[in-house]
Amino acid sequence: MEHKYRILVTGGAGFIGSAYIRRLLSSKKDIEIYNIDKLSYASDLSAINKLDNSKKIHKHFKINLCNYEEIFSLLKSFKPKLIVNFAAESHVDRSLDTPKSFFENNVIGTLNLIEAARIYWDNLPDKEQKNFKFHHISTDEVFGSLNASGFFNESTKYDPRSPYSASKASTDHIINSWHNSYGFPTLLTNCSNNYGPYQFPEKLIPLSIIRASQNKDILIYGDGGNIRDWLFIEDHINALLLVQEKGLLGESYCIGGVAEKNNLEVAQEICEYLDKIRPKNKPHNRLIKFTKDRPGHDKRYSIDNYKIVKSLGWEPKYEFKKGIKITVDWYLKNENAMQELMKRSNYSGERLGLIQK
Ligand code: NAD
Repeated sequence: MEHKYRILVTGGAGFIGSAYIRRLLSSKKDIEIYNIDKLSYASDLSAINKLDNSKKIHKHFKINLCNYEEIFSLLKSFKPKLIVNFAAESHVDRSLDTPKSFFENNVIGTLNLIEAARIYWDNLPDKEQKNFKFHHISTDEVFGSLNASGFFNESTKYDPRSPYSASKASTDHIINSWHNSYGFPTLLTNCSNNYGPYQFPEKLIPLSIIRASQNKDILIYGDGGNIRDWLFIEDHINALLLVQEKGLLGESYCIGGVAEKNNLEVAQEICEYLDKIRPKNKPHNRLIKFTKDRPGHDKRYSIDNYKIVKSLGWEPKYEFKKGIKITVDWYLKNENAMQELMKRSNYSGERLGLIQK
């Protein structure tokens, strides 16, 4: 008898996808995971490679979602009950430099995946069809930018303002239209900025930690006043698992950390903790420097969690201070591995997304 719950994950060598796989593999469930990831500069297979064991099986496939035939053939042979689509180019600054690749990877990639999945699902026996789910992971950036007040929720009008968020908004529309047109069983989540172990050190938090630990300047865009609603990775994974278990098909759920901080406050928090654990003659915040702002930089993101809290019982458990401590400790412990990863990915912490004219 076949008992295994088969899950197809995409983008599982990236920051959030690998955390999801690590969590699944540490659970008691009898599962089998196939991970499709094209392996970009941001991928780190060491985040999941050590986790195989005989009971819970996990395999990686180096496939680009743009390759329809390979995706379809894998779906037919693996027969997943759940597909979780994390795969995307994810850095706003890089989307300013190379917008086209964001639409190719994110939009065409998601279109291929969902269409292959729809045809696979359409041919399943009734019982298996009823139990099948497709979960697409998206971002709050699709909703645009807030001023000092207000929150994003599931009814907020889409207003993407960067090539990255425009590509992600397109994928959300694909997901919703496949549910509406074909009755395809989708789940959609839009979450705020994540932080935690294994995030490629190009984004604010890991890059600031790595640079501060090397005694290099911590570069803050503009006046440092841009606000994000920071979500610790493990809280995000809790929310995803709940949505997969109890979420209503065809619905979307917003997920935020209830931790609004501006970029300057984030850098200061990191410096304060570094002063405690690695004190220097002068405080680490002397390294904070302001640099030219990101073009079109969204001012503020903030999520109203009402729906996921009330209907599914989720709430974030990690306060920002605690999440930052865990994250800083992890990056310091894995400093060499992160340096290696950056070297392999040909990235040394330089400023991206300034749009050369
Ligand atoms: P990441 O950049 O760390 O990892 C993305 C992974 O997807 C990489 O391993 C990459 O190789 C893979 N990938 C990209 N395009 C692919 C394609 N066409 N085919 C196969 N693999 C492909 O990103 P992340 O931070 O882990 O983000 C995961 C998802 O969560 C993304 O969809 C992103 O939009 C969304 N998200 C991220 C955040 C955040 O703060 N990091 C916040 C909200 C939503």
